[in-house]
Amino acid sequence: MADYDAIIIGTGQAGPALARRLAAAGWKIAIMERKLFGGTCVNTGCTPTKTLVASAYAAYLARRAGDYGVTIGGPVAVDMKAVKARKDAVVRPSREGVERSLKTLKGCTVFEGHARFVGPKSVQVGDKVLTADKIFINVGGRASVPPIRGLDQVPYLTNSSMMDVDFLPSHLIVLGGSYVGLEFAQVYRRFGSEVTVVELAPHLIAREDEDVSRAVEEILKDEHIDVRVNSKVVAVAKQGRNIAVTIENAGATSQITGSHLLLAIGRRPNTDDLGLDKAGVATDSRGYIQVDDQLRTSVPGIWALGDCNGRGAFTHTAWNDFEIVAANLLENDPRRVSDRITAYALYTDPPLGRAGMTEAEVRKSGRPALIATMAMEDVSRAYEKGETKGFMKILVDAETKRILGASLLGLSGDEVVHCILDVMYCKAPYTVLQRAMHIHPTVSEFIPTMLEDLAPLS
Ligand SMILES: Cc1cc2nc3c(=O)[nH]c(=O)nc-3n(C[C@H](O)[C@H](O)[C@H](O)COP(=O)(O)OP(=O)(O)OC[C@H]3O[C@@H](n4cnc5c(N)ncnc54)[C@H](O)[C@@H]3O)c2cc1C
Repeated sequence: MADYDAIIIGTGQAGPALARRLAAAGWKIAIMERKLFGGTCVNTGCTPTKTLVASAYAAYLARRAGDYGVTIGGPVAVDMKAVKARKDAVVRPSREGVERSLKTLKGCTVFEGHARFVGPKSVQVGDKVLTADKIFINVGGRASVPPIRGLDQVPYLTNSSMMDVDFLPSHLIVLGGSYVGLEFAQVYRRFGSEVTVVELAPHLIAREDEDVSRAVEEILKDEHIDVRVNSKVVAVAKQGRNIAVTIENAGATSQITGSHLLLAIGRRPNTDDLGLDKAGVATDSRGYIQVDDQLRTSVPGIWALGDCNGRGAFTHTAWNDFEIVAANLLENDPRRVSDRITAYALYTDPPLGRAGMTEAEVRKSGRPALIATMAMEDVSRAYEKGETKGFMKILVDAETKRILGASLLGLSGDEVVHCILDVMYCKAPYTVLQRAMHIHPTVSEFIPTMLEDLAPLS
């Protein structure tokens, strides 16, 4: 007889929700956490970074107060200890809420410690070995540390250690010009640091369309962030109290010197010390657990949810994984990963809201398509708010009239994108959205207007 009906390893975005659902169905659960309840999103990811983005926005707007006819009696200063205290005050209740909800959940026992498989139905945590018929892996990921010459000799920051920063780095060098790196870059620039972003690819946020990436680059450069694309980091070294980063660009070598170094060059799954070999669970070459469309691993009775399965890298994808597993197990509802539409945001200011395919993906698919674009300068609400950077782009299938994708870089792009996403989920033609009456003055009111101007994608 197994000790539990289910073991859940990790308390990130999928594990706690699954524990609650299974416990409500009468299952006896064991859940394990080795570090901070709530995982990445709550402690070192979404919540703290968006709290910092809010502080940085306040500083930015305060500096622009004169544009709005508002006088501030002196230079704008940022108190980094207060910024961190605010961030901690937002994070702490979330973390404590997850911990409390699990520890008081009827039918659920919490084990604090690093969990490892010792067999396909057994997991060790501390000196205890527990067994269950069903095991759910929700171990998330962590920042990658690449093999750069000299990196073991210099202090560096990751998204986790950035959470302890309560001072202003005089010059922050960010390695990696993608989602995590760019958010920190703009935040620290707005706090007052000099910031350099180093990116290996020819353009920032490499999976986005080039026009989107170029617009983001312009926005960052306007704020005097030094952006180096096409730049390979070949070495780092201590230089007095500073850190020197050697980069290669078009065959030429140069050096950037900064006070602090942030690594933001990707994530790796926390599967390397999980005893997966003892259970026989298969991973890919990068350590992601291989799963099918319903998140079952190669071993019957073991599922993998969230970042560790490589099928998503966001809080909403981890949450969606929980919903898929719960629906299949408890509701006889065969929900699948392939039912979901790509959706995410980049929280620079202005943000980028994304749904579905990029223009490059549509072109590659070879299907006849229509496109509409609009500059944020033409959006009255953006104009009224004095926040006119960016542009919006929507792509439609010329034959089915279904929306294929959208990139909304501009004021409230992270929110507005949902009106497009929902029409995509409804599988409705774009004409439904085109005829909708939206509220004035909003950014969303221009989505139907844009759809009036669809033209063939040449
Ligand atoms: C800087 C940053 C900003 C981000 N911003 C956003 C955003 O704005 N929006 C968004 O959607 N996503 C964002 N993300 C991504 C998001 O945080 C993750 O996709 C999400 O947290 C993944 O959840 P998860 O449940 O897969 O794993 P995690 O949240 O990483 O949780 C895994 C948990 O498992 C525990 N664990 C690991 N191994 C073991 C073990 N062997 N034994 C016991 N416990 C273990 C860990 O301690 C952790 O608590 C951001 C990420 C970063 C790094």
